[in-house]
Amino acid sequence: MNYVNTNFSIENTLNIVSGAMHTNKILLIEDNPGDARLVEILLSESDLLDCEIYHRVSLAEAMMELEKNTDFEAILLDLTLPDSQGFETLAQLITKFPNNNVIVLTGLADKSLGLKAVKAGAQDFLVKGAFDSELLAKTLRFSIERNQVLKRLEETQRVAHIGNWEYQPESNYFIASDEVYRIFGLPPRETFFLGQDLEDPKCPFHFFYQINRDVLDVGELKKDLKVTQANGYSKYVYIQCTVRKSQEYGEVIHGIIQDITERKLSEQELLKSQERYEEIFTESKDAIFIATLEGKLVDFNNATTELFGYPKRELESQNNIHELFYPREKKNEFLLKLRTQKSIKEYSIKVAHKSGEVRHCVISANIFVADDFIGYNCILRDITERKQAEKMKKARDLARHSAMMKEQFIASVSHEMRTPMNAILGMSNILVQMDLEKEQFNLVSSIKQSSEILLGVVNDILEISAIQNGKIVFENKFFNLEELLANLVNVMQYKAQEKDLYFETIIDEETPMILLGDKLRLNQILYNLVGNAIKFTDHGFIKIYIKKLFDIVDSVQLQFIVEDSGIGIPSEKIDAIFETFTRIRQKDRLYEGTGLGLSICKNLVEQQGGKIGATSEEGKGSKFFFDLIFEVGEASQLEPKSPELDHVELDEETPFRLLLVEDHKMNQLVARKTLERKFPNIYLKIADNGKIAIDILEQESFDIILMDIQMPVMDGYEATKHIREEMPDSIATLPILAMTAHAHISKDEKFKEYGLDDYVLKPFEPEDLFNKIAKYLRK
Ligand code: ADP
Repeated sequence: MNYVNTNFSIENTLNIVSGAMHTNKILLIEDNPGDARLVEILLSESDLLDCEIYHRVSLAEAMMELEKNTDFEAILLDLTLPDSQGFETLAQLITKFPNNNVIVLTGLADKSLGLKAVKAGAQDFLVKGAFDSELLAKTLRFSIERNQVLKRLEETQRVAHIGNWEYQPESNYFIASDEVYRIFGLPPRETFFLGQDLEDPKCPFHFFYQINRDVLDVGELKKDLKVTQANGYSKYVYIQCTVRKSQEYGEVIHGIIQDITERKLSEQELLKSQERYEEIFTESKDAIFIATLEGKLVDFNNATTELFGYPKRELESQNNIHELFYPREKKNEFLLKLRTQKSIKEYSIKVAHKSGEVRHCVISANIFVADDFIGYNCILRDITERKQAEKMKKARDLARHSAMMKEQFIASVSHEMRTPMNAILGMSNILVQMDLEKEQFNLVSSIKQSSEILLGVVNDILEISAIQNGKIVFENKFFNLEELLANLVNVMQYKAQEKDLYFETIIDEETPMILLGDKLRLNQILYNLVGNAIKFTDHGFIKIYIKKLFDIVDSVQLQFIVEDSGIGIPSEKIDAIFETFTRIRQKDRLYEGTGLGLSICKNLVEQQGGKIGATSEEGKGSKFFFDLIFEVGEASQLEPKSPELDHVELDEETPFRLLLVEDHKMNQLVARKTLERKFPNIYLKIADNGKIAIDILEQESFDIILMDIQMPVMDGYEATKHIREEMPDSIATLPILAMTAHAHISKDEKFKEYGLDDYVLKPFEPEDLFNKIAKYLRK
């Protein structure tokens, strides 16, 4: 290798490197071996300690070395090299490595070149043969010191994020410190931009081109700017630069650039959060204010003015906001708490609004000390509405609860009434069929009739309770209106005849007969109206008219009218009769009833989207009318008739075995008597509850079971479940019919879930019971 490596280690010389011992690297670029050797000797004679010389003989080799090694304290450069001569040598070197201290070695003949070199950026020059070891050492020491200073400066710049640059327009000379590169996101000492590079708009330093031109116009520049880094990120910088005139270089621009991104961002953050708090403060629905402990308001938001009801100016001049606390004595307790605890949360307090209205609030406050101010900040939340809502909710819950209780009460009263009525009705049914004397027959008939009326009352009460609790669900099935009317006439004609009334049904031709809707409800409404008509008419007629009002796409609006020639209704009472429990007093006669029928009708009509009304003339008669909309169907859409509705034939002499599960002694008797009269060959066994029934079923075989639901020990649901799930197949598959006084059994299909096949509602119609038994026996 063509280089000399020399180590000097001379003690007791000035230690120019602060801190630990440090090797000073010096690059010697010299092709003349004699000159190179001379430098080494001079250096060894000097008082410079610990130097290491890297000797290169061409510019190319030197440049290679500089690529690898960035920490040369000085470069001793001979301007005449095999691959480059004269001033060009220096120019090449400092263009590529501007941050090095270059000491140019010139011959005696070209001393002027040395001066030019210094102008162009060399640190110094030495004339070969004209410098001794002392001068060499002095020059190098200066270089070393300069490097140290530069390093410290560099460090300072790095820490402070401040870089500096210099620009000489005349020579287009530009130099920037490492930190400038860093600020622009460029690794320092890898690329260096020169004056001419800046002109390119794509150059990351193009920014300086602008700045330099601007400052030349105005002489001095100070401003914050946003710059874009090479990687696209933005930085905020502060720049300050001035133009100075020098004789040697013409105009020189000196500038510093400081990275103020962090500060800017935190300023922006601060501003944003200030704005946010400002917004919370002004937009808050809660009153927020700062006050002295004496109650003088220092700052407050709009909600405060709203809460207290005073305009801003009046609040500002209010000397003691605590005076507006209600009752006033409360302020002492509040202030004492605040002083002792420094911070209070959700403390309940009332304030007096300007209007005199008292608002319920909760207050959260903190003692607040700043400079010479002692006070508190607080949030005052108006909870008056919340309190009211809570109160209302309580009332609503209570109402809901009592409605539920009422419903339950009505359901259980109805059950408790139906059970003995089953006995009364059942027994009178059996009695009227017996051989009775006329008077006995009349008495028993009266008992039967009265019980039927009582049952109607119970049913109406249950119905109105269901309506009031929104429990009514309407069925949507195709039905035949003609059939419905035929059944109605069948029953009603008979009642009309009893009173010698003319009964007629007039149906407009255009009325479609196959309709989609709830036929049971329609029947119920008509039954009620016709029932009333018969009840309140002693002479004359009852007429039913039905006609189509409108066609609506594939639906029709039908009108139903029930007209009578009865006692009529005073015109001022017409509206009242549709209310619950309204009955109109008649001077000479009391008609039985509860005043529920029309109210039920009104609800049933209106809940299906229709209207009901009446016109009447006292003493002449009444007209009740309602309209309903039905979808029109075709005969093919009717459900095939279920055998249930038809009379099922069963030979009464057929022997069969029936288990009756029933705890009520009298109802046991009614059922036994009723069944035994109808089926003389029946074998009937009675179990007092579900448990006993299961025991009996284990001993004896049966064809059918009648099961009461509510029983002690084991109820009907439980017993059925046990039979279906736990007993041998022959028993588990027996038909089981519920026989219950729970009216809701027809509404929910719960009985099916428990495995019951069907139900008979108590008080039962004997025919209904016989039919169901026949149906399931035949199966
Ligand atoms: P109820 O008939 O059970 O008393 P309603 O609600 O059916 O109850 O009828 C309420 C009242 O309206 C009856 O008590 C009666 O005074 C009057 N009212 C109803 N229908 C007629 C009618 N067709 N003629 C005369 N008055 C009637």
